[in-house]
Amino acid sequence: MKIVVCIKQVPGTNKVEIDETTGVLKRDGAEAKINPYDLYALETALRLKEKTGGTVTAVTMGPDQAIDMMKESYMMGVDDAYIFSDRTFAGADVLATSYTLAQGIKAMGDFDIIVCGKQTTDGDTAQVGPAIAEYLGIPHAAWVSGISDIDGSGIEITQEFVNIRQTARVSLPCLITVEKDIFTPRLPSYRLKEETKDREVHILTFADFADQNKAHYGLKGSATSVERIFPPETAGSQIFLDGTAVQKAGELINILHEKRYI
Ligand SMILES: Cc1cc2nc3c(=O)[nH]c(=O)nc-3n(C[C@H](O)[C@H](O)[C@H](O)COP(=O)(O)OP(=O)(O)OC[C@H]3O[C@@H](n4cnc5c(N)ncnc54)[C@H](O)[C@@H]3O)c2cc1C
Repeated sequence: MKIVVCIKQVPGTNKVEIDETTGVLKRDGAEAKINPYDLYALETALRLKEKTGGTVTAVTMGPDQAIDMMKESYMMGVDDAYIFSDRTFAGADVLATSYTLAQGIKAMGDFDIIVCGKQTTDGDTAQVGPAIAEYLGIPHAAWVSGISDIDGSGIEITQEFVNIRQTARVSLPCLITVEKDIFTPRLPSYRLKEETKDREVHILTFADFADQNKAHYGLKGSATSVERIFPPETAGSQIFLDGTAVQKAGELINILHEKRYI
């Protein structure tokens, strides 16, 4: 089975600078670490490989400095690692990030399952995984808290929502985003560090991608731009919407209009 795991570098410190003109995080040269939620995605991918055989390939979109994170993934048991890195990808919002990751994964060839973390600790949107699946035209399940079975055609997963636990079988190829605590992440191994110290981390650039329209990537491919960054107000109450998906979407749009968010 070909398993792909998406891991992202996030600031390892809260002293992060913002570019005042663009509202973009200054990531170059900033102290960085693997997104904590992605340790659970990595562990899930490695456990799936232990059950089914095959390979685990880690991918990230980001600057070349992500190489250290990718080498760390080798120390945990990942077989192969790719960084999608190019000036064209800079300044990407969720839309452009997901598109770039989907294009990069396509450029790597076939896959059976993609595993993402539930969310990141910097962007924190929890949208990238589902958006990659949409761009690849494959099914996805988000917030997966358990896996009961996997075979060549599908995976059985459990999702925990506020008052509901749901089990489902999702056909392969598919994408899942996993909750923290699905498994306990393993530590990097000294033995694997020695064994993989000369293993290459592949870099794919814009030139390697099938879609050569630069307007789909980076700042140009982003539908949103950051105007201001500030601590969020604490939510005073929660509203639960009833009805069909269409009714709930309609009601949600009305609420957002009333509050002048859209
Ligand atoms: C409106 C808006 C504008 C933004 N503009 C900019 C900008 O101009 N410049 C900028 O640097 N950032 C920008 N960001 C942040 C940037 O969009 C996010 O870093 C990126 O979209 C990932 O989103 P996220 O961190 O919310 O990921 P989430 O959706 O929370 O991540 C879920 C999972 O997806 C996977 N994943 C996410 N990102 C990556 C990645 N890069 N590589 C591999 N796997 C990944 C991981 O498995 C992760 O656990 C913007 C964000 C928003 C919301």
